Amino acid sequence: MREPLALENNQKIVLIDGGKMDTVYLRVNSENPDETSLKKAAELIRKGELVVFPTETVYGLGANSFDETAIMKVFEAKGRPQDNPLIIHISNMEMLKEVVSQDVGSFSALMNLVWPGPVTLIFDKNKEIPNSVTAGLKSVAVRFPSHPVAQELIRLSGVPIAAPSANLSGRPSPTMEEHVIEDMDERVSCIILSGPTVFGLESTIIDLSRGRPSLLRPGPIDPDQLKGVLPDLHVPEFVSGRKEYLGDPMSPGLKYRHY
Ligand code: AMP
Ligand code: MG
Repeated sequence: MREPLALENNQKIVLIDGGKMDTVYLRVNSENPDETSLKKAAELIRKGELVVFPTETVYGLGANSFDETAIMKVFEAKGRPQDNPLIIHISNMEMLKEVVSQDVGSFSALMNLVWPGPVTLIFDKNKEIPNSVTAGLKSVAVRFPSHPVAQELIRLSGVPIAAPSANLSGRPSPTMEEHVIEDMDERVSCIILSGPTVFGLESTIIDLSRGRPSLLRPGPIDPDQLKGVLPDLHVPEFVSGRKEYLGDPMSPGLKYRHY
């Protein structure tokens, strides 16, 4: 039996115990990832299995974005509410077209500045992406990570990888190997270990799907730097820290606390 989980806010989470499995561990160099190891992990992604992998922000819990059953496993493994959408990770700009339906041309200066890197952009969703990934929203969150292991895993999988942070819902996002093991051992098919993550902070999120660009979540990138390429970027008061965000029914993706 697993030990009861200590959640920050004393909430209980329901974990499905029937799904326990043997987890394969792969140790991979963070700068020079071994292709043979990552091919094994990529094969699991293609088969609809879950793979935990490092990114420059936090460790992610990844699944094939197009595989609805694999996406359901992500929510189950984390105990994540299904109305909290996932971020899709890509490894090149061609993959972006498989995920979004919007013309992204006018945002190329922004994408050149922040990608690959710790910034998530929200666009109109492509119909190939299951609604479960976006929690029923018409928009989709996308990130092109800079971490060599993340990039190589996505490239070898050949599909965009949907991944929330690799923690149990309600616990802090994992930045260290031991945190990932504690939360995800026996819940996923494979865990790739590559040492601590670089930023240790979740990605900055910018919504580009609703007219005026808007910062939805502060992160490693300074909003002033973003304004250099997005002069009309709206930085809501709750993001700049002057006021607490109390929930807005127009932004269902922001319902959950991140820190
Ligand atoms: P994470 O918890 O780091 O995996 O990030 C997921 C978060 O990204 C969600 O909790 C939302 O805040 C945000 N998000 C993902 N998709 C969308 C979307 N389509 N619209 C708005 N926010 C989104
Ligand atoms: Mg998270």
